[in-house]
Amino acid sequence: MAQILQGDLVAREVLDSVSQRVSRLSDTNGVDACLAVVLVGHDPASEIYVRRKQKAARSVGIRSLEYRLDEETSQQGLLDLVHKLNADPAVHGILVQLPLPSHIAGDVILGAIAPQKDVDGFHPVNVGRLSTGAGGGLVPCTPLGCVMLLERVIDDFRGLKAVVIGKSNIVGKPAALLLLDRECTVTVTHIHTRGLPDIARSADIIIAAAGSPRLVRGDWVKPGAVVIDVGINRIALEDGTSAIVGDVALDECDHAAVITPVPKGVGPMTIACLLKNTVHAAEAMARAREPAVQ
Ligand code: NAD
Repeated sequence: MAQILQGDLVAREVLDSVSQRVSRLSDTNGVDACLAVVLVGHDPASEIYVRRKQKAARSVGIRSLEYRLDEETSQQGLLDLVHKLNADPAVHGILVQLPLPSHIAGDVILGAIAPQKDVDGFHPVNVGRLSTGAGGGLVPCTPLGCVMLLERVIDDFRGLKAVVIGKSNIVGKPAALLLLDRECTVTVTHIHTRGLPDIARSADIIIAAAGSPRLVRGDWVKPGAVVIDVGINRIALEDGTSAIVGDVALDECDHAAVITPVPKGVGPMTIACLLKNTVHAAEAMARAREPAVQ
């Protein structure tokens, strides 16, 4: 029977640690960690994500500022807000909720966020730090959450074969880089990959981030493999209701060593890692303001 690795329980521990760091920063440095969340338009899924992030921020004592902009807001209007938040010393993290309306170039906006406040880890400077293994940057929340879950069950990553399904900038690519950093042998796969079931079957670790319901079947998973399911897919049920399922057919994977469920797997870790990044950014900014020791 596979161990079900409950991301919500691990996320609770991460949030407890963040909460302690937030209090310490306030007591020691008089700094109140603050996250600015920017939402453009009224995408229903984005509204839900933003609400969850803000609720979680408040639960750990992080001040959360919300900026709601009209769907018709110009790119320059959004840039002006980002520049204002960059310049505000009371703001430590800036999150611009994606997707943005089509008339706004996402890469221009993400590239305008000050890298030290880029708590989503999407700025080219942070991407570059992750790619080169330089460290010291902010790491994208979902892949960071995946790797933190893996670290709960794997002591030594060196030489393990990892297969990442999906190559997005948000999940697949950074997940692959984090695993490479840990000396895994990593294969990144995508929609055009040929022979994906065989490739997956060779893996000690599978990270499934394709956005395709129940893509990974039981016979794609090697006995004893560790499987992280990132997918969030809403499917229609026969009775007219709907359900959220992952990218992995969990019920077919008893022979895996460990598997994460959907929901209550990677999702809660993503939010916990966002707040971990925010307190990290606030701590770094507080340190930078301390007078140099002579
Ligand atoms: P995306 O659409 O940007 O990228 C999907 C990737 O999967 C692409 O590289 C594509 O080539 C690949 N892919 C799609 N279908 C495939 C198939 N049949 N076989 C192999 N590869 C395939 O998506 P994304 O933003 O990376 O998100 C992926 C999934 O993860 C989605 O379900 C999304 O909702 C979910 N997600 C979850 C969280 C979380 O917090 N749990 C966070 C981000 C994304």
